[in-house]
Amino acid sequence: MSKGEIIKVSGPLVVAKLNAKMYDVVLVGKEKLIGEVIRIDNDKVFIQVYEDTTGLKPGDPVENTGKPLSVELGPGLLKSIFDGIQRPLQKIAEETNSVFIKRGITVNSLDREKKWDFKPLVKEGDVVKPGQVIGEVQETETVVHKILVPPDIKEGKVIEVKKGKFTIEEPVIKLDNGSELKMYHTWPIRRPRPYKEKLPPEVPLITGIRILDALFPIAKGGQGAIPGPFGSGKTVTQQSLAKYSDAKIVVYIGCGERGNEMTEVLEEFPELIDPYTGKPLMNRTVLIANTSNMPIAAREASIYVGTTIAEYFRDQGYDVSLMADSTSRWAEALREISARMEEMPGEEGYPAYLGSRLAAFYERAGRVITLNDDIGSLTIIGAVSPPGGDMSEPVTQNTLRIVKVFWGLDKSLAQRRHFPAINWLKSYSLYKEILDKWFDENVDKNYSKLTKEAMEILKEEEKLRAIVQLVGTESLPEKERLTLEIAKMIREFFLQQNAFDEVDAYSEPKKTISLLKLIMWFKDRAFELLEKGVEVEDILKIKSRYKIGEIRFRKDWEKAIEEVKEEIEKEISLIQRSVV
Ligand code: ADP
Ligand code: MG
Repeated sequence: MSKGEIIKVSGPLVVAKLNAKMYDVVLVGKEKLIGEVIRIDNDKVFIQVYEDTTGLKPGDPVENTGKPLSVELGPGLLKSIFDGIQRPLQKIAEETNSVFIKRGITVNSLDREKKWDFKPLVKEGDVVKPGQVIGEVQETETVVHKILVPPDIKEGKVIEVKKGKFTIEEPVIKLDNGSELKMYHTWPIRRPRPYKEKLPPEVPLITGIRILDALFPIAKGGQGAIPGPFGSGKTVTQQSLAKYSDAKIVVYIGCGERGNEMTEVLEEFPELIDPYTGKPLMNRTVLIANTSNMPIAAREASIYVGTTIAEYFRDQGYDVSLMADSTSRWAEALREISARMEEMPGEEGYPAYLGSRLAAFYERAGRVITLNDDIGSLTIIGAVSPPGGDMSEPVTQNTLRIVKVFWGLDKSLAQRRHFPAINWLKSYSLYKEILDKWFDENVDKNYSKLTKEAMEILKEEEKLRAIVQLVGTESLPEKERLTLEIAKMIREFFLQQNAFDEVDAYSEPKKTISLLKLIMWFKDRAFELLEKGVEVEDILKIKSRYKIGEIRFRKDWEKAIEEVKEEIEKEISLIQRSVV
């Protein structure tokens, strides 16, 4: 371990004289605060410190550990709440009686005392390879944690296998090459974990949010962004995705915009029930919390900590989704640290490497064949909060260049209480066409046809609206007036979804498409009537069509659809009789 001393302290940045490599972890000051080398200029190293640097001064000691910043990966990750450098917040709270981490505190990320029941999946004489699954631990009621050979050790022949209850520090398998394998290993946060092969994004991540699954679907292993101004619903959408998307594991990284936002998450998540299993949602969740009182540099690291944990579960053959709320707060950390290093600022003061850092983060998403020959996926969904909702700012623009799905939140929709306030005209999904195939084959053979049709009606509405503003609704031809009404039904009965309603919050794909099918069926019936000479006013008087709007709140939606259809048919036959 080489030693050195501080030359200068500037907020979270410490400049020191020290022998070091990029990304070495350095213990700073007498309290041994954790820092990481982020730049080297001849004999000067720049260290970003993950703890409050108040009181540090030139001449104070620094010590290079020579190791990169790493996370611990093994049983005990699930249900955990970590800070930006994977220190366990619950554990610290227990030990220090406070959620405010004291400086220089070192706690293991994973519990060292807890015993886990290890079931080996290999036997003496087997040759095991890097990344191979060698055993299992039932980590929570809902998740079997696969124990992996660390990807960075050499293959070897098993000479000893244990079975039963052990702590994560006790070796459970020994190899002839001298390796002793434990139930956990460490991995550097800035190095993507290896896999065999990337697969095309052909399978959707079912979100249970109708507008997303129907119009702007995301693939398992895909990359998506949710930009939107303050108060437009980014956090609510991210949390809905965490709760309802059909990922086996969720990693949620919170960089709260409001001081209490992260506290809300910390209080709320442990109470939530997983709709797929009926068990606590935390059973399949890892939370990473950057509360507003935590040092800014830890936010920078938290994105990589979360991604590495997510990749580790992907490597077990699971579908993982990672939410980062919000990446703008992360980018601000980059900006502040860059400014303190006196780097040449790029657009709006962000460093010139903002785009490449964002790209490197989103590129860690993907659906892959793992080293164990399983299929796993990591879907990354980042919220972006452009100041004042101005999407032309650098973080939004750089993000849009990378992601394949854009769910744009709209202030005016939110003000009109149309939720989720996702603007259907500005949003897009580059996966739509590929995933349509999956939906047609697995949900409903007319899925892509119906969703395309709905989108066309919404686009048509936008065009007609411009005309209506000029000449008024009355002067529109009857057909177009009917189209406007159908568009309204799509918006209010289908696109709107209340994230806080027990039933409406989650819409399974079958329900989503059945609801849309019903609206489209009504549309067809209505146009038939129009053809037969029924006046548009009389068609719009069909009262029971409003009942379509109640179906989304119904658990027994299949029955509800049949009932509503029948009622509408009755009204239609009355109209037809009066025409004849
Ligand atoms: P942001 O994170 O963009 O600042 P939030 O996610 O906190 O915004 O949302 C602000 C408010 O909007 C929420 O408190 C809630 O009242 C409302 N809201 C947003 N999305 C929905 C939704 N899908 N269903 C119901 N209400 C919503
Ligand atoms: Mg928010």
